[in-house]
Amino acid sequence: MLTHTLGFPRIGSRRELKKALEAYWKQELDLSQLLQVGRDLRRRHWLLQHQTGVDLLPVGDFSFYDHMLDLTAMLGAVPERFGWQGETVDPDTRFFMARGVCGQKTAPAMAMNKWFDSNYHYLVPEFWPGQQFRLATTDLFEQLSEVRQAGLAAKPVLVGPMTFLAMGRETDALFDRWEHLPAVLAVYEEILVRLSDRCDWIQLDEPILATDLSGPARAHFHAAYRGLAAAAGPARLLVASYFGALGDNLDLTLSLPVAALHVDLVRAPEQLTPILERVPESLTLSLGLVDGRNVWRTDMDRALAVARQAWAMVGPDRLMLAPSCSLLHVPVDLEHETELDEEIRPWLAFAVQKCRETALLGMALAGRGAAALAESRAACAARQTSRRVRRTSVRQRLAALKPDMYQRSASAPERRRVQQERFRLPPLPTTTIGSFPQTAEIRALRQRYRQGRIGEQDYRAALRHVIGEVIACQEQLGLDVLVHGEAERTDMVEYFAEHLDGFCFTRNGWVQSYGSRCVKPPILFGDVERVRPMTVDWIRYAQSLTERPVKGMLTGPVTLLCWSFVRDDQPRAETCRQLALAVRDEVLDLERAGIGMIQIDEAALREGLPLRRSEWQEYLSWAVDAFRLATAVVRDETQIHSHMCYSEFNEIVPWIARMDADVISIEASRSGMELLRAFEEFAFPNDIGPGIWDIHSPRVPSLPELIELLRRAARVVPPERLWVNPDCGLKTRAWPETLEALQNMVKAAGELRFFLEEK
Ligand code: GLN
Ligand code: ZN
Repeated sequence: MLTHTLGFPRIGSRRELKKALEAYWKQELDLSQLLQVGRDLRRRHWLLQHQTGVDLLPVGDFSFYDHMLDLTAMLGAVPERFGWQGETVDPDTRFFMARGVCGQKTAPAMAMNKWFDSNYHYLVPEFWPGQQFRLATTDLFEQLSEVRQAGLAAKPVLVGPMTFLAMGRETDALFDRWEHLPAVLAVYEEILVRLSDRCDWIQLDEPILATDLSGPARAHFHAAYRGLAAAAGPARLLVASYFGALGDNLDLTLSLPVAALHVDLVRAPEQLTPILERVPESLTLSLGLVDGRNVWRTDMDRALAVARQAWAMVGPDRLMLAPSCSLLHVPVDLEHETELDEEIRPWLAFAVQKCRETALLGMALAGRGAAALAESRAACAARQTSRRVRRTSVRQRLAALKPDMYQRSASAPERRRVQQERFRLPPLPTTTIGSFPQTAEIRALRQRYRQGRIGEQDYRAALRHVIGEVIACQEQLGLDVLVHGEAERTDMVEYFAEHLDGFCFTRNGWVQSYGSRCVKPPILFGDVERVRPMTVDWIRYAQSLTERPVKGMLTGPVTLLCWSFVRDDQPRAETCRQLALAVRDEVLDLERAGIGMIQIDEAALREGLPLRRSEWQEYLSWAVDAFRLATAVVRDETQIHSHMCYSEFNEIVPWIARMDADVISIEASRSGMELLRAFEEFAFPNDIGPGIWDIHSPRVPSLPELIELLRRAARVVPPERLWVNPDCGLKTRAWPETLEALQNMVKAAGELRFFLEEK
C-alpha cells in the first residue's frame, strides 16, 4: 500500500522563500541566487518528507509565487500586455504577471482570487479569443531530474486542465473559455508524453470535482481524460479531488479512465461508503485521511477504521494513503515551536508531522508502529478530556441562549429615527473604515513592547499620543464620524484572539497567503471566553478627545472563525456562537462606556461560503445569527455598523440585510459601483456606504472622480441613507496619499450635499 503526499509548503520553515523573493525584487539577490534558494528548499522538503517514511513525493508543487501562475506560464497563456515573446516564460515575466511591475515596465497585474474555500490566493488565468497555447516552461521536467538525482521516488503534480479552465476568466464577455479546451489539452498531452517514461505516477488535481460543475465542465470531463490517459502511456494517472465530497459528480468521477482517484475523507468521510459500493475494479483509491487544511493531530483510530473499511472492499493493492489535500495550507514543522503551550503542543501536527502520520497509517495497517500509535492515542485522549477545551461557564451560557438575544428591540426605521435624533449627522455623513496608516514608528513601538523593551505604561502613553494625532487629523479634515485608528493592532484577528481565552499562538506557524505574503493564523483550541474588555480603553480615550462620534471597532465572530485554525471537535457554528458571545460582551461594555456607534467587521463572511450552493443557506443562517447575537444587545440609540470588503454581493444581499446592522460599508470603487446593481434589485432596508476610494492602490482619486462615483451611488441608494467612505481600512497606505484622498472625499460629499439641497 503506497503512502504519498499531494504537495508540501514551499515557503520554508523560516520563510526562506519570502526573504529570498523580496531580496530579489529589491535587487539584493541575483537570479541565480534566487534559483539556488528554490533548489535548496525543494531538496530539503523532499528529504524531510522522505525521512518521515512517506513513499511517493510530489514534484511540481514548488513555486516561486503561485502554482496556478506557473501552470499559466507552462501552457504559454501569458496575456499580451506583459509583452512576452521569448521561447520560455522566465521568472521575471511571471513576477511581472503577478505584480504588475518589472523594472521600469508596468501593466495591470493578473487578478487574484481565493483558492476554493482556503485563504491561499491564486492568480486567475485569462482567456481571450484567438489565444495560442504551447508548452512554454520546462521547470517540471528539470525538477523531476532533481528529485531523481536525490535518489527519491517522485510523482509529478499539476493542476488538471478542467480546474485550470474553470478557475480562469474570460477577458472578453462574449467569449467562452471552453472553446480553448482542445488546445489546452494538446499541451497537457505533450507534457504527459514527456513525463510518461520517467515516472510511475502522475497526479492531476481536479478540485472542481468537489464543487457544482458548470455544464461544459461536466460535458467534457470524460473525453478530456480519455486523451490524457492515452498520452500518459505507461505512467499511471491519479486524479486528485479534495476540499469536499464528490457528491453529484461521483459517478462522473468514478467513470474517468484513470488509474487512481484521490478522495478527501476528512472533509467528507461519509462519501467512502458510496464510493466503495461503486468503485470500478480497475481503479485504485487514494484515501485522504490526514487533515491538510488544519493543524490538529489525526485521530489514528478513526483514520484506521476508515482505511480498514476500504481495505476490506478493495484489498491493499488498490489502496493509497495520503493527507486530504496538499499541505500548502498548514505550517511546516512543529519542531520549530519553542514557546508553544506545553499542554497543547502534543495535540498538533504541522506538515512534517502530517507526513509522519500518513506513513504511520501505512505501518499500522501492516501491523507495525505500536509505540507511535499509543503516543498518538494518548495525545488525542488528553485533548478530549482537557479542562482547557471545555469550560462550564461557556457551556452554560450557550445552553441559556434565548431567541430574543438575536433580536434588536426596535425595527430598523424606528432605530434610525432615534439615532438621527441623537447624532444629528449631516446628509451623506463621511467616515473611514477603521485603521489609519501603520507607520514604521507604530510598528517599531509595538515590537518594542512585545519584546519587553518598553513597559506597559510607556507603551500605552505612546499609543494614546498616536490616537490623539489621528483624532485631530480627522477633525481637521472635517470627517463626521471618527475612528481611533487601530494602531494597537497588527492584525484584525490576532489582536482579538490574543485577548480571548481559548486561543493559542505559534512563533513560526506561517502559511502562504499569496506570493511572498504569509499569515500566521491563531489556533482556536478550546471554548472561547472574553475575560476582560479588549478595546474599551482605547475607544473611550479617543472619544474623550472629541465632540464628534467615535466608532468602536471590533472584528466579527465569522471573521475570527474563518481566519483562525479552528478546533475540529465540534461544529463550526457552535464555535462561532461562542465567539459571538465574546464580541457581545465587548459591544455591551463599549455601549456602557458611552460609545454610540460600534462597527463589527465581517470581512470574511462571504469567503466562508461553502463550495456547494446547496450548503449556503445553512452556513449563512448561522453566520448571520452569530452577527446578530454579537450585536443585538444594544439599545435603540446605539448605532451598529458593519464592514465587508468584497464586491460580489448580489447573491447574498438578502442575508446581509438580515444581519440588521444600522449601517454597512462595502467595497465598491474598483468595480465602478457595479455592486450597486444588487441594491437596485433588492430594497436594502439600512444605511449603506459603498466605498468610493480603492485603498488597495496608492493612487489618489480625484475630486471629479469621487463626485461621479457618489452620484452613481445616490441614484440607487436613497441619499438620506447614503454614507461616504473608502473601500477598506487605511493601514497599508502612507500618510500623504491618505490626507489627499480623504480631503477629496470630504469635498466630494460637500459638493453632493449642496447639489441635493438645490434639487
Ligand atoms: N477595521 C478594519 C481596518 O480598517 C477593517 C479591515 C478589513 O476589512 N479587512 O483595518
Ligand atoms: Zn475591508
